Amino acid sequence: MRQKALPFTKSQIETIVKQFGTPFHIYDERGIRENARRLKAAFSWVEDFREYFAVKATPNPHIVAMLHEEGFGADCSSLAELVLCERVGVTGHDIMFTSNDTPAEEYRKAMELGAIINLDDISHLPFLIKHAGLPEMLCFRYNPGDARFGNSIIGKPREAKYGLTRPQLTEAYRSAKELGVKRFGLHTMIASNELDPTHFVETARMLFGVAAELYNELGIKFEFVNLGGGVGIPYKPGDKSIDYEGISAGIREEYNCMPVPDSVRPRGIYFEMGRAITGPYGFLVSTVLHKKETYKDYVGLDACMAHLMRPGMYGAYHHITVLGKEDWPHDHTYDVTGSLCENNDKFAIDRPLPEIEVGDIVVIHDTGAHGHSMGFNYNGRLRCAELLLKADGTVKMIRRAESLDDYFATLDFSEFESSREANCATCKRCVG
Ligand SMILES: *Cc1c(COP(=O)(O)O)cnc(C)c1O
Repeated sequence: MRQKALPFTKSQIETIVKQFGTPFHIYDERGIRENARRLKAAFSWVEDFREYFAVKATPNPHIVAMLHEEGFGADCSSLAELVLCERVGVTGHDIMFTSNDTPAEEYRKAMELGAIINLDDISHLPFLIKHAGLPEMLCFRYNPGDARFGNSIIGKPREAKYGLTRPQLTEAYRSAKELGVKRFGLHTMIASNELDPTHFVETARMLFGVAAELYNELGIKFEFVNLGGGVGIPYKPGDKSIDYEGISAGIREEYNCMPVPDSVRPRGIYFEMGRAITGPYGFLVSTVLHKKETYKDYVGLDACMAHLMRPGMYGAYHHITVLGKEDWPHDHTYDVTGSLCENNDKFAIDRPLPEIEVGDIVVIHDTGAHGHSMGFNYNGRLRCAELLLKADGTVKMIRRAESLDDYFATLDFSEFESSREANCATCKRCVG
């Protein structure tokens, strides 16, 4: 059985568990920072290389601020994500606002912060101007439709709700230019969790081609192309991670072949990856509460879909390590479950694992992106804490666990409390 590495030892985790209890997500600062530096180094040939971290992947101020220190911007798609960035001091062109079906107040906030606005539809141009004003710089999201395959997770571009068609792009940039927009970018995102490096090279070729066409049609010089996110990570032990150097070299070739004068080539090549930046550096740590043997063998954790949705929601594979049993034979087969009254609340189905006992600590890998952030409160389950394993080996809590008071905060119990008091006055069952 192939293993996946952990950035901590069993005894280290036991100490952390004693202090914080389980479950929690823990993020590896050193891993995240080294990864950020690898990405930047791979694209150092680009005059203006930028990664806008997709905040929705791990919307924690400490993570966004750490990546900002590494020179990354933030990709936002909602008011909450914009406000989070504002509160950690990430503003202006350090924010790319790539939203869809966007409410007016979110455009107003994005404009107030000076973010780069990336429009998802041609009709959003008049909507933006009406509700938030005219930006100096603007970007549109291209959906190539049948011209590209997309991939299995995001689906066929033609079926995706995002972006403008190719003819709409020409119209949109033309009218933006006529309306007085001065600076332009071009965006696309047509894959998710894609591990094939050629996909990103083809996407770059496509965008460079469209940018060249739009230059010829409208005389627009693009300052940047934004290749979006969607870079995959090796969730399974046998998967190969994306080689930044490899995609960078492929994109560089396409860049140099772009059929425009040198002065028209975009200076900026941007990404807005989430998963690839933090995904492999997060771990959901949980304790085995119960074992159950019926038609199948079950292991019940103190974590559930409230903490990690991906396996239940789309059958995603997340590797599981039983701490201290890494070298044991994986000669048992378990469904690893949470406690929700939903049969898809399973972290793994028919997974070969070492023999598990109640009390064992189980680590679920690759939860650093789209893990905690997707969590929900179904069944009144509370979301857990997020911890940061700092580069110096210490641990910092960067989000506390939710409490029942948090859960009930939006409810008004006052009218029931007065009747409870009335009951108390007449009932003799409890003393004191
Ligand atoms: C979700 C999303 C991203 C990040 O996707 P990853 O798969 O995490 O890299 C980037 N841009 C947009 C517009 C998104 O919706």
